Amino acid sequence: MSGKGDPKIKRNPKWSRDEIILTLDFYFEHYPRIPEKSSNQIKELSYLLRSLTEKIGHDLTDTYRNPNGVYMKLMNFHHFNDQHKGDGLKGGSTLDEELFRRFENDRDELRNISSSIQILISSGEHVVEVDLDDDDKFEVEEGRLLTKLHRTRERDRKIIQRKKDKVRRESGSLVCECCGFDFVKTYGPLGDGFIECHHIKPISEITPGEKTSLDDLSLVCSNCHRMIHRKKPWLTISELKTLISPDR
Ligand SMILES: [Zn+2]
Ligand SMILES: [Zn+2]
Repeated sequence: MSGKGDPKIKRNPKWSRDEIILTLDFYFEHYPRIPEKSSNQIKELSYLLRSLTEKIGHDLTDTYRNPNGVYMKLMNFHHFNDQHKGDGLKGGSTLDEELFRRFENDRDELRNISSSIQILISSGEHVVEVDLDDDDKFEVEEGRLLTKLHRTRERDRKIIQRKKDKVRRESGSLVCECCGFDFVKTYGPLGDGFIECHHIKPISEITPGEKTSLDDLSLVCSNCHRMIHRKKPWLTISELKTLISPDR
């Protein structure tokens, strides 16, 4: 859609979690010397954010995340920084502040997530447009793009089939690794061959372009799979196992 010549000035969309993560990482990387608005670093960040949006397949307007807007966001972060009470720019969002507080003392984790997003942006890796779960309504910690990559991998039919074949060969059946649920026992032939696949690598450790190995996948029933993704960061298989009580 062309916004040019449109008498109504369209406001750019709200900053997504991925965009905030990339920009916040930039902020801490350069703090306390935030580059000038007209610097190359700010231009590069602007370019990165625009590439992210293109990767997801959204249209860009000329002003989308331009150096001016990017610089303003950095100043919003500055406002949340307790070292600079009253400095910076008011007007940051609740999500800006939430992420600032989440990562101000955990910059390594922020770095990991931000690097993974950047590698993914520049990789040719395909990310499907998946609907994230209802449970993701409070957006996932790692950002939507990486979550989509995770889901894309979990839906890779070929590798899922290989995983199922392997487990069936070795154990004779397909049961949930968390709770032991067996779809055949409950549903009979209808459940034969059915089970979900969960990718167990933490998202910040996933390298885009890297092949999924069968050991990266766990077979789980649909309930357990939902429960794993319910909490952030996602539960591990063994953490979920300990939550399953036979008495409850
Ligand atoms: Zn289960
Ligand atoms: Zn999963």
